[in-house]
Amino acid sequence: MTALDIHQIPVLNDNYVYLARDPGSGACAVVDPAVAKPVLAALDKQGWTLTHILNTHHHMDHVGGNLELKAVTGCTVVGFANDADRIPGIDVRVREGDQVALGDCVGQVFEVPGHTRGHIAYWFAESHALFCGDTLFSMGCGRLFEGTPDQMWRSLGKIRGLPDETLIYCAHEYTNSNADFALTVEPDNPDLRARADQVLALRQAGRPTVPSTLALERRTNPFLRADAPELLAAAGLAGRDPVSAFAEIRRRKDNF
Ligand code: ZN
Ligand code: FE
Repeated sequence: MTALDIHQIPVLNDNYVYLARDPGSGACAVVDPAVAKPVLAALDKQGWTLTHILNTHHHMDHVGGNLELKAVTGCTVVGFANDADRIPGIDVRVREGDQVALGDCVGQVFEVPGHTRGHIAYWFAESHALFCGDTLFSMGCGRLFEGTPDQMWRSLGKIRGLPDETLIYCAHEYTNSNADFALTVEPDNPDLRARADQVLALRQAGRPTVPSTLALERRTNPFLRADAPELLAAAGLAGRDPVSAFAEIRRRKDNF
């Protein structure tokens, strides 16, 4: 069993780009390179050689560095087959259930539409690592730009079924404001209160709050809890079906 070495690169205002390297073969991917220069600098500093770009979706703050990185390193660009026309430099077109190998480390592709219609996630089971782009955030989820609440709820359901110890490598540091919103939905959730305090302390110390774990997200993320009776009661949504409750919580967040 081989686990990836993962290196987090903060870029732009609040994006996280990740380097993920198989120590055996040296195969190294960058996930969602918003920009190229900080990625090249990090590769240089780590002494790692880029072999792959893994894109979760087509937004510029996820693919903006693709072409420059490909030109400089000759790496292979992986993205969702149905979004090939909007993933710059795409070489390998993947779908639900496909595998992406970085040496001995094998990732599985999930289709998780909602934020965009062509959003995918990469799960490296042995590394307990999920690269989920803008689908799931710590205590939040992506805005529904192209998808429906029903699609997003099902996409989040796929993620929610992964093991507790799964590390959620999302693409933005939105955790603090997500916590503020989550507390308006479930003000008396003790796990949420504790996590909000921890997050504030981390941010005040200039430290990332990402990755979190799926176990923690299940207890604190309102968008994973739209079928939890205690959330529905707290939010004034008792009796609502999960999709309509999810849609209402997402609507409240859009207006928060
Ligand atoms: Zn996005
Ligand atoms: Fe984004």
